[in-house]
Amino acid sequence: MLRRFIGQASIAQRYRCLISRQSSADTLRRCSSSATASSQAPVGTSAEQPADTQFSDDYTSQPAARISIDRSGLSNPPEHSHETSADSELVKHLKSIIKFRGGPISVAEYMEEVLINPKAGFYINRDVFGAEGDFITSPEVSQMFGEMVGVWAMCLWEQMGQPDKVNLVELGPGRGTLMADLLRGTSKFEKFTKSLNIHMIEVSPALKKIQKLTLKCEDEDENTATTLTGTPVSWHSTLEEVPTGLPTIIIAHEFYDALPVHQFQKASRGWCEKMIDVAEDSKFRVVLSPQPTPATLYLLKRCKWAQTEELSKLEHIEICPKAMDLTQNIAERISSDGGGALIIDYGLDGIVSDSLQAIRKHKFVNMLDDPGSADLSAYVDFPAIKHSAEEVSEDVCVYGPITQSHFLGNLGINFRVESLLQNCTEEQAESLRTGYWRLVGEGEAPFWEGPNDQTPIGMGTRYLAMAIVNKKQGTPVPFH
Ligand code: SAH
Repeated sequence: MLRRFIGQASIAQRYRCLISRQSSADTLRRCSSSATASSQAPVGTSAEQPADTQFSDDYTSQPAARISIDRSGLSNPPEHSHETSADSELVKHLKSIIKFRGGPISVAEYMEEVLINPKAGFYINRDVFGAEGDFITSPEVSQMFGEMVGVWAMCLWEQMGQPDKVNLVELGPGRGTLMADLLRGTSKFEKFTKSLNIHMIEVSPALKKIQKLTLKCEDEDENTATTLTGTPVSWHSTLEEVPTGLPTIIIAHEFYDALPVHQFQKASRGWCEKMIDVAEDSKFRVVLSPQPTPATLYLLKRCKWAQTEELSKLEHIEICPKAMDLTQNIAERISSDGGGALIIDYGLDGIVSDSLQAIRKHKFVNMLDDPGSADLSAYVDFPAIKHSAEEVSEDVCVYGPITQSHFLGNLGINFRVESLLQNCTEEQAESLRTGYWRLVGEGEAPFWEGPNDQTPIGMGTRYLAMAIVNKKQGTPVPFH
């Protein structure tokens, strides 16, 4: 089956030398047991709406006159207490925001609290990845993913004229696996690795610790360290904290899907924002806002970028203002400092309708049930990223989205897998083949002979890649 993808590798011929130089046996990271053990991880598929989601008409009275959030509860607070003794800290916190705000909160505010609340957010206190965790990502599936992203970064660095110093920024590095594989894969190209100042943008103290272990870093202080090979690494909470002035390469893999989304639903009075409220029975429920909310400004902006025909079919729209703002920061930085950004995520080459999903222990669950114990993620709206970048700077060009299969295939993943297969045990070979399928395949792996419920599912077309690059750099591989 691997041969099916070999034809895709025209650009890879040019970089074959680079890829085969990575190929000695000692560069086989590990036999990725998590790849098979959790092959049914529900990555990138659309979640069904939670069964008990209901829309209330309680908030539907006034016409859309001005932009404000609904505070109708202020003058008429519910008599019952929202808290039940069994509520978790995060549930108590969410209910108290709703109570003291005097009305429901947006889905985006709910999502942000659930994922990154500093005390109890989903990402904050634990390792959520792999077979034992809640979901699995491409860098955890196979070392080849980080290695191919390394090929991309090195090619861009070459197009930038091989600068002596470069900021290599990763947004949301998870366990740090992608960065470790990128560094190991490019380690023979000393001029490149010596140029790197690595910056990790991470909100989770627990994952930050794991990233330091994965990169085998010696701590200097809480936020700075050096890898064993002497590359400086620093940690920040936001991209704005990364020093400016150096050409910059930014990697965002499965970061955008964790940014909070606002959801809108078409009602008789126009687009209404879906809000999270507490029902009489003290459970969370979804209601519609009676008036335009602040996020409506972003909805209007997003709709201007869409075709009337595309919009007329939709009953629901999801928008991500944080993704639009982040993209503008990225584009401004690349425009002033040079370089480029690579965004890989599951998403659509079009407006997103209704994709927010909750995943716990590799299964879809109701997003309102036990918040903080399940991941929340949404499809990435790639055209919104493209328009946001283009709106802010004429010095950057946006490429893609292309499928992950196209991206990895044209960078030469087939050569990489073949060279790794030449020097490995049978168990490692099995894991490499499975990992390869999951990264570039589509649907169920036809070669699979193991248990049905563990059939590897390809992520090759569900995941898309987009690049934002300073025009001086020309077209990045493999977006030609
Ligand atoms: N890129 C990794 C992990 C993806 S999960 C991989 O592919 O395996 C999302 C990552 O982004 C986690 O590391 C999470 O802690 C981090 N994250 C989520 N929201 C964030 C935010 N607002 N700011 C910084 N990091 C965030």
